[in-house]
Amino acid sequence: MYPWLETTFNALMSRYRAAKLHHGLLFIGVADVGKTQLCHSIAKALLCKSVSSNTHVKPQNASHFESDDALAQPNKTAQPNKTAQEACGICKSCLLIDAGSHPDLHVITTDKSQIGIDAIRQTIAKVTQTAQLSGNKVVIIPQIELMSESASNALLKTLEEPTPNTYLLMTTNQSQRLLATILSRCEKQIIALPSYDESCHWLRMLQIPEPSKAALIAHGSSPITFRNELEDADSIGFDDFVITLKGIMEGNDTANRAALKWQVDASKVAKWLAQHWLEIYKNKQNEFAYENYQACLIASKRMSHPGLNKSLILTSLFAQLRSIQVASLH
Ligand SMILES: [Zn+2]
Repeated sequence: MYPWLETTFNALMSRYRAAKLHHGLLFIGVADVGKTQLCHSIAKALLCKSVSSNTHVKPQNASHFESDDALAQPNKTAQPNKTAQEACGICKSCLLIDAGSHPDLHVITTDKSQIGIDAIRQTIAKVTQTAQLSGNKVVIIPQIELMSESASNALLKTLEEPTPNTYLLMTTNQSQRLLATILSRCEKQIIALPSYDESCHWLRMLQIPEPSKAALIAHGSSPITFRNELEDADSIGFDDFVITLKGIMEGNDTANRAALKWQVDASKVAKWLAQHWLEIYKNKQNEFAYENYQACLIASKRMSHPGLNKSLILTSLFAQLRSIQVASLH
């Protein structure tokens, strides 16, 4: 569990235990904030035999969990460092989830650019039946903005007429693409990025040296993105990028040479620059910053075309940014 998600998780699980949890939860937040991981943690807790709601799904071993006070005491054999309402990790349901074979947990994902109606229909058909383990049924749909219109309408019926003991956990980072009817039928949970200090604290726990503020911002202010990119040892490091960029701005290095050096990582460089300018725009509402941000996005999009030379696109972006930045500094 990412520490910055614990408050949301605990609040939702408290409502579950009070039998007041909404059956359709939509988690809205930027990429790499931990939305899908949060869905999995909630799903595991909803299916765990040691976590109970006041209305149904009694604990498997009631003698250990007779009251709320008892639930607040961690099970001695459970995994350490868990919050009171997290899944126990040791019951049959938890073990099945860990093995990826829980019959009442359904995760709808797609390798394609769209989630089609068949995937939604097949899953809905499964959750309209009785739960195989006599408990809850949970459907996780990451990136629901990828649903086709017919898939959305199929899901809408389930949101409007939910089957008992069924929870739909959905995520999106583009809620503006969703049908208004879907949005209105879900309870929306906004998932915010952790603060700089929270991010550094989490990275330190993973033995990762804390990044500068600029480095974290370049990674979309997400410590998860920062960690993931560090794991890619062959890729360009942010510090190296900054040193070379300074050289370009001071005229000590040519943009051409840097662009060649970063050819493989051109998309990453464009993304870092985009985040850098977006942050300046957010703080200062500076129109040059916005233009630079847009230029980075356009360059990034062009780089996704396989036929185009990324190095040339980057050289042209540097030229554009340099002229705009010099103007904006004065
Ligand atoms: Zn369990």
